[in-house]
Amino acid sequence: MSTLHSDQYWMGVALEYAKQAEKLNEIPVGAIIVKDNQLVAAGYNRSITDNDPSAHAEMIAIREAGQKLQNYRLIDCTLYVTLEPCSMCAGLLVHSRIKRVVFGATDLKTGSAGSIMNLLQEPRLNHQVDITSGILAQQCGQTISDFFKRRREEIKAEKQAKKNLNLNCLD
Ligand SMILES: [Zn+2]
Repeated sequence: MSTLHSDQYWMGVALEYAKQAEKLNEIPVGAIIVKDNQLVAAGYNRSITDNDPSAHAEMIAIREAGQKLQNYRLIDCTLYVTLEPCSMCAGLLVHSRIKRVVFGATDLKTGSAGSIMNLLQEPRLNHQVDITSGILAQQCGQTISDFFKRRREEIKAEKQAKKNLNLNCLD
């Protein structure tokens, strides 16, 4: 029998997918879907790359899981995502009838699994999702803040390079 992996283990896998997004200069968020201790599907944020505001990590993983499982409902599945889902993804998660969502860092601006609202457990909807938060939160949050720091520095350097070029043209 295969060993039962912990939430920490699976969040580590989701973080690997977040790094794929980072390589595309996308905000590094990764998501995976697990059923019966097995990886079913994965996704990472690619909104800018695909010119698609819906191309969030969770959205991509959920679509892939539906195809793999040949089911429009993700019964008894767990989604692991490095950042708290937004309202769009939380809405889709309710539609998918997923059993459980595990997330890493909280998102105080758009998080809809408890931060600005809790759509995953809205009693007026017909499905509620179990939530576990804070798994590898430090690493998940650090990945995102390191990304923004790097991008800010890159943009600053690009501006400076342009400025220097203009000055050289004046000489
Ligand atoms: Zn989202």
